[in-house]
Amino acid sequence: MRVISLREWNDEQQVLKSKKLVGFFSSKRKITLLILLFIFFSIQPLFNKNHASQALMFTQKNTISKSSFLQAGDKFIKTIVIDAGHGGKDPGCIGSGNVYEKDIALDIAIKLGKYIEDSIKGVKVIYTRKTDKFIELYQRAAIANSNNADIFISIHCNYNPNPVFHGFESYIMGTHKTVANLAVSKRENESILLEKDFNSNSEYEGFDPNSPESDIIFSLYQNAFMEQSAKLASSLHESIKKNSVIHTKEVKQAGFLVLWKTAMPSMLVETGFLSNSEDLNFLNSDEGRKKLAHSMMLGFKNYRNWYSKL
Ligand SMILES: [Zn+2]
Repeated sequence: MRVISLREWNDEQQVLKSKKLVGFFSSKRKITLLILLFIFFSIQPLFNKNHASQALMFTQKNTISKSSFLQAGDKFIKTIVIDAGHGGKDPGCIGSGNVYEKDIALDIAIKLGKYIEDSIKGVKVIYTRKTDKFIELYQRAAIANSNNADIFISIHCNYNPNPVFHGFESYIMGTHKTVANLAVSKRENESILLEKDFNSNSEYEGFDPNSPESDIIFSLYQNAFMEQSAKLASSLHESIKKNSVIHTKEVKQAGFLVLWKTAMPSMLVETGFLSNSEDLNFLNSDEGRKKLAHSMMLGFKNYRNWYSKL
């Protein structure tokens, strides 16, 4: 029997431990471990990078959502001015059976405003007139500007000596591209002739509907809201078309005095032709005007939703 000291025993244990460790690392396990370590250190930077990208994307996404939300809060359309064309001594165009444009326009304007107030929360409706009274064209734009309106819609009825023409069309401010578009703006601008001293009214900058050259003043017009006005008009058209209310024509451009000085997206609606019997019957019925006003409200609502997400 070998007698060893405690120290020698400790030394032997150390040697045995080392041999075990060497045994552990000297086998196939050593190679496997090295491979695993190599793989781990190779993919770690990649893992960190992906993680970092994900974190960045998350941050960006949250930032975008937040800023969009803030913009949406700022960009809600809060005020709309609805302008019933003509009024008082200015009847507008007159359809068969003494149907006056001023009356049709006023009723559609009030119906539209009511539908907006009932269906769209947070929108204040202002009318340029709620009764049968004459208002100068420049005053209508001034009402919208002084109320800081976000939208201006002027409501009218169309007329053409040829009774075949029919349907809903709308205009945004700009240079007319056809003689027909010019004719519509000329007819609507003629309301100015009923205004006292329009010649000396500086608001019109010398515009005279009797002068063929007068229209040139509109060619200098810079429309900062053209895109939004066009979008508003097409939203109304889409809604009316979708609900099959009345035949719709395209959105057009021409120089309208009533839109000229508005400082917000604006449009002029020609709801239908009083010179066409089908349109006349439709516009002269309470049901027809209700359908039209309701579809216009839905179109405005769609535009408002689109705008708030910009
Ligand atoms: Zn009119």
